[in-house]
Amino acid sequence: MIRFVTIVAMLGAQLASLPGCASNKRESDNITSADLSDSDTWKPVGFSVSGRAIEAITVGRGPARVLVVGGIHGDETEAQPSIGRLVELLGREPGASAATWRVIRDLNPDGTAIGRRANANRIDLNRNFPARNFEKRTRHGDKPFSEPESNLLAKVVRFDRPDLIIAFHSTASGPFVNFDGPGSADAVAFAEGAGTTDPRWRIVPEMGYATPGSLGSYFGQDRGIPILTVEFEREQDPWQVWHALEGGFESLARHLLSQAVERQLK
Ligand SMILES: [Zn+2]
Repeated sequence: MIRFVTIVAMLGAQLASLPGCASNKRESDNITSADLSDSDTWKPVGFSVSGRAIEAITVGRGPARVLVVGGIHGDETEAQPSIGRLVELLGREPGASAATWRVIRDLNPDGTAIGRRANANRIDLNRNFPARNFEKRTRHGDKPFSEPESNLLAKVVRFDRPDLIIAFHSTASGPFVNFDGPGSADAVAFAEGAGTTDPRWRIVPEMGYATPGSLGSYFGQDRGIPILTVEFEREQDPWQVWHALEGGFESLARHLLSQAVERQLK
């Protein structure tokens, strides 16, 4: 605990200096008919460039609203085999009382189908959000929200108004959790829980490279929603991944419950 808190405190100053808000709304909208209402079974909330369903499910009945993005880079699928089990976990205690969890199975099913980071238009969805630091490039899109998948995520966020967004990735230097916006306490809770199963789990407050137009930049830094970027180790053993999710989300649920109690006492 002390180790995590120290790291977080050290980087608090850096985070405080991050840029403010910008908006760059897209006029056209690829997903006009999507039904975003909560469903306790998997159902499409939108579609990819190639027409693949992007499925979501909502479990739990707690006061906090949490959005879990199961995948956004199609070559980082380490968490995919555990998504069903994670949904079951969140539907049980302490998850069920802690939050209402919307889980998007995979925001980039076209990329996942061929093991490619980008979507079918070869755009990196995690560079396609209208963050202040968006950079127009071939792989980022001509403009923010040029892709139906990034557009859909923004619609879900507008609909749900989540208190926390969690996205799963993987990297050679994983496993660790990174956060944007006011997500440090959530990151501590997740890393502590995941760390009980694997001591390598740690908090990395800065990715060490620029992430213009990322989900974390836009929703976290610009809009102030706590974001956890959970980075598994690339090709991490699926059971290790599951146990980290189990420990991490149980710990996070207890943290959210204690926050709710604190609010009631105020
Ligand atoms: Zn990634």
